[in-house]
Amino acid sequence: MTAPEHAGPRPAEEREALLRMPGFGSLWSDHMVTARWTAGDGWQPARTGPLAAFSLHPATMAFHYGQTIFEGLKAFWRPDGQRALFRPGDHARRFARSARRMAMPELPADAFLAAVAALTRIDREWVPQARGHSFYLRPFMIASETHLSNRPAEEYLFAVIGSPARPATAEPAPIRLWASPEYVRAADGGTGTIKCGGNYGGSYLAQREAAEHGCHQVVWLDARERRYVEEVGGSNLFFVEGDRLVTPPLSGTLLAGVTRDSILRLAGRLGLAVAEAPVTLEDWERGCRDGRITETFACGTARAVAPVGHAVTPDGEWAIGDGGTGPVTRRLLNALLDIHYGHAPDDFGWLH
Ligand code: PMP
Repeated sequence: MTAPEHAGPRPAEEREALLRMPGFGSLWSDHMVTARWTAGDGWQPARTGPLAAFSLHPATMAFHYGQTIFEGLKAFWRPDGQRALFRPGDHARRFARSARRMAMPELPADAFLAAVAALTRIDREWVPQARGHSFYLRPFMIASETHLSNRPAEEYLFAVIGSPARPATAEPAPIRLWASPEYVRAADGGTGTIKCGGNYGGSYLAQREAAEHGCHQVVWLDARERRYVEEVGGSNLFFVEGDRLVTPPLSGTLLAGVTRDSILRLAGRLGLAVAEAPVTLEDWERGCRDGRITETFACGTARAVAPVGHAVTPDGEWAIGDGGTGPVTRRLLNALLDIHYGHAPDDFGWLH
């Protein structure tokens, strides 16, 4: 139950050995950044210190009423030996939007940037070098006031921790998606456009159902009609129709992925037309069967671009293309990785 704690920085040899082993989400760098907010005093200066467990009262409000938000962004190793954060300003803005929606205090963008930069700098040796590997940063905020009243807390804790991501394969393998007919992720007016903890906890039963159908992830349908394809577990979705890309519009129930936006911009550069247009589950199936839709891919910070090989519903399943990784998916993945790892110029100014 207890977090794997380690006292002080790990010796270089141990760190290097750990970085050579594939994995994600269970290995931590040596430090963390924390900052506190109170209704009386606002934000206190952030502090960078050793990674350590928190000690919280059982009546800490985050445990009861779910005022928790988070972000996920990455730092990459560059050929010049520097470490670069990908679009941290966009993550800072989304974090502030999440805070606003959850009636939590907004952390100013410059404080968010300073915190993620401070952790990346102090734990720079934890940024893996291999292409496809990265240093995943997890900024988050919780209601830390000790109280049982059902109202917004008056004290909050912000922190950033870091975890090196070392995927086992250089290229993501095609995934199978389960279209959940029963569960929905988000409805109009809800919290689907932000990153609050409850959005994820509420999705795990459907995620378990997906696994029971041999699928990796859930593809979410709209809450109103259960017809329109919205997004995938922790990624946005793109459909390839020849040299045209289609992605569901930001209708008010989807997360505006930073990777989604990057793909939309990169696509133009690669001579692909792009459209943000609604796609029904039926369109998707028919398009794949008649050959109009040649590829589908999911995209997000975690795996950049991941091909979708098959879609599964209670009525049956279909392959997308030949069920493998299509050429457009591969081109976009490589174009994005080239920018991440400094193998192509950062013309969009995405690296910090
Ligand atoms: N949708 C959801 C529900 C997510 O959790 C994520 C991951 N943050 C995404 C899409 C992709 O967003 P991004 O590209 O910013 O990681």
